[in-house]
Amino acid sequence: MGRVWGPEEIARRFKEIRERVAEAALRVGRRPEEIRILGAAKGQNPEKIRAAAEAGLRLVGENYVQEAERKRPLLEDLPLSWHLIGYLQRNKARKALKVFDLIETVDRTEIAERLSRLALEEGRRFPVFIQVKLAPEERKAGAPPEEVPALARRVLELPGLEPRGLMTIPPYFEDPEEVRPYFRRLREMRDHLWETLKLPGPGELSMGMSHDFEVAIEEGATLVRLGRALFGPRPPKA
Ligand SMILES: *Cc1c(COP(=O)(O)O)cnc(C)c1O
Repeated sequence: MGRVWGPEEIARRFKEIRERVAEAALRVGRRPEEIRILGAAKGQNPEKIRAAAEAGLRLVGENYVQEAERKRPLLEDLPLSWHLIGYLQRNKARKALKVFDLIETVDRTEIAERLSRLALEEGRRFPVFIQVKLAPEERKAGAPPEEVPALARRVLELPGLEPRGLMTIPPYFEDPEEVRPYFRRLREMRDHLWETLKLPGPGELSMGMSHDFEVAIEEGATLVRLGRALFGPRPPKA
């Protein structure tokens, strides 16, 4: 497996992904540069992240604070930004602010308030996305849609946080076309929130994974989170 997913293979994959991103963007009249690729690196070793960075990757996503804490120091020579894309436990908030450049998974007022307080202690204003849970039956983390406006308003008020966008993990469908309505819904929420709350910037949309990122781009994704498509199969959890 070392050979199959060696540095050349990752470079080849990255190039191919970039082409697919561009094609999806152009299909709907978007500029390919509007879309950033994040390498979802949970369970993958630092060498693979390095290979992707050398091929042009600039964003890494990690699901666990401790895993990022272990890997990031080994890759500090690379121009990478690190995003937290996994659930944030209350007792990991301080560490998360140290290890990450942006937290994509703010899904409740309590964690937003805590992050803001801790960021202010360090004299910072920390960029975050609000994670939305679009399917109520899913066990996945995220704020239910009806709570998102209040949460966004709160994040906007908090002096230690800067709302930059929305993130979602939709339910899995074999056929990516079936995910389209979820992506569309997140875009409509973003449009509505950014308009009504006068939130700063264009408002990012972090949505789309290995099997459905092209549909996400057609629906407005500005950031796609790719794991297997870029790094290959995930090694089993230790
Ligand atoms: C693992 C993961 C991804 C990437 O999933 P793939 O299907 O491997 O592309 C994206 N987002 C989050 C939050 C993840 O945990």
